[in-house]
Amino acid sequence: PPETGPLLEVRGVHKAFGGLTAVDDVSLAVPAGSITALIGPNGSGKTTLFNLVSGTGGAHTGEIWFDGERIDGLSPPARAHRGLGRTFQLTRLFRSMTVLENVVAPLAEFSPRVLASGAVSGHEADRARELLGFVGLGRFEAEQAGALSYGQQKLVELAQVMMLQPRLVLLDEPAGGVNPALVERMTDIIRAAHLQGVTFLVVEHDIPLVLDLCDPVFVLDRGKVIASGAPSDVREDPAVLDAYLGG
Ligand code: ADP
Repeated sequence: PPETGPLLEVRGVHKAFGGLTAVDDVSLAVPAGSITALIGPNGSGKTTLFNLVSGTGGAHTGEIWFDGERIDGLSPPARAHRGLGRTFQLTRLFRSMTVLENVVAPLAEFSPRVLASGAVSGHEADRARELLGFVGLGRFEAEQAGALSYGQQKLVELAQVMMLQPRLVLLDEPAGGVNPALVERMTDIIRAAHLQGVTFLVVEHDIPLVLDLCDPVFVLDRGKVIASGAPSDVREDPAVLDAYLGG
């Protein structure tokens, strides 16, 4: 059952690239215990906002709060260390490393011992194997990541982000380019992680999937939040139909 109060709060965030406003005074809250969606047409500012939240987006105005703490002055690793995880639209796996090594890789940033040893062992390996089992890829642990299908690589990335035991995961197009069977597995895994207490903020273009999986839903258009609420409300919103869903 959802807890109360926002885990992530974006307050009046504004980001421009030269003369182009990409994120225009956006405020939104991700309730703790939710699977929240961020949707909108191409160029509406979704990726820019993800980057600002995870800390790679550069300078901006406004505030970003996570778990009661203001984080917009923190480095990306410091945010990750506090429990803010993220996946990317195009996976960023090390293609020539094994699947298991990839899942452990984020720990290297926080535990030089993992990096120095050069081998995956002990507690870290146990946890990585558990996560690979969780995403249904246990038998691929010794394969090179680049040999897996694109959808499987996205599942490896999901296991990877879970390695740091995040409280909030920003998922960038989890279903994009993934075959339907794996999309179903992906959503099952998101739901299972959610039941274990992980909160999600999801950017996704598959609108039926979003309306089925997520609540609340925030809709961006040209950098602004034009609608938000339960899927049933957003689906009927005239501004949303006009800007987006009506196509
Ligand atoms: P979305 O993820 O919703 O497709 P983006 O956040 O990628 O939208 O882009 C929002 C706007 O900002 C677009 O007009 C895009 O061209 C612009 N933009 C994004 N990143 C940059 C950048 N690094 N430099 C200049 N313009 C950018």
